[in-house]
Amino acid sequence: MLLQLKNISKGYGDPQKSNFRKVLEGLNLEVEMGQKIAIAGPSGSGKTTLLNLIGTLDLPDSGEIYFKDKEITGYSKQELAHFRNRELGFVFQLHYLLPQCTVWENIMLPVLPFKKVVGKEEKEWGEHLLRKVGLWEQRNQKPSEISGGESQRAAVVRALINKPQLILADEPTGALDEQNAENLADILQTLSIEEHVTLIVVTHSNELAARMDKVYHLQNCKLN
Ligand code: ADP
Ligand code: MG
Repeated sequence: MLLQLKNISKGYGDPQKSNFRKVLEGLNLEVEMGQKIAIAGPSGSGKTTLLNLIGTLDLPDSGEIYFKDKEITGYSKQELAHFRNRELGFVFQLHYLLPQCTVWENIMLPVLPFKKVVGKEEKEWGEHLLRKVGLWEQRNQKPSEISGGESQRAAVVRALINKPQLILADEPTGALDEQNAENLADILQTLSIEEHVTLIVVTHSNELAARMDKVYHLQNCKLN
C-alpha cells in the first residue's frame, strides 16, 4: 500500500461559528503502489481540498494519512518539505511554468533543491521524458513560444523529474481543448505505466477518468 487516508475530516472557518464549511468527513482512501485513480465530483465538493491534504499543503482537522506506512500527518516542517520534493509530483490546471526560463530550465527546477548543478543522470532522464512527450525539439523555447498543450506536457515532465512515487494532478486537462486534453490523458496514462508512478487525478473529463484503474466520486464529504 502506498497511501492510506483514515477517517479524514476537514472544514474551513471556525467550527463554533455559522460560517463553518465542512468539506470532508470520515473520508477513507487506499491507493496501491502503481495504481491510477481518478476523483470526480461537482465543483466545490472538496476535490482540491483532498489533493492538498494528500500533498501535505494543508493539514486535516482530524484523521491520519500514511505514505508507505509512515504517518505523514505527523511530519515536521522540514520532513514535509523533503517529502513533497522527493516523493510527490504536482500537476495543476494551469502549468505555472516560469515565463523567463526555457522549457529545459523549467523542467530542471525541482532538481535544484538537491543539487547545485544538474548532473548527467538528471539530464538523461529529462531528455528521455521530453522525448516521450514530444517536446525535445522545443527544449530551448520559452513558454510563450509553445502552445498551451505543450506547456502542460512540460509541466508533467517537471512533475516527474525527481522520479516521485506519486503524481497528484488537479484537473490537468481543464484548460485544454479536446485534442490536447486527449493527448495529455495519453501521456499521463503512458508515463504512469512505463515509469511505475502512482497517479491521483482530479478530473471532470470522462475520457481521462476512463483511463484510470478506478474512479471515485467525492460526494457528501466522502469518496464513493
Ligand atoms: P473542488 O476542488 O471540488 O471544486 P474545493 O476543495 O476547492 O472544491 O472547495 C471545497 C469547498 O471548500 C468550497 O465550498 C470552497 O469554497 C471551500 N474552500 C476551499 N478552500 C477554502 C479556504 N481556503 N477557505 C475557506 N473555504 C474554502
Ligand atoms: Mg478544485
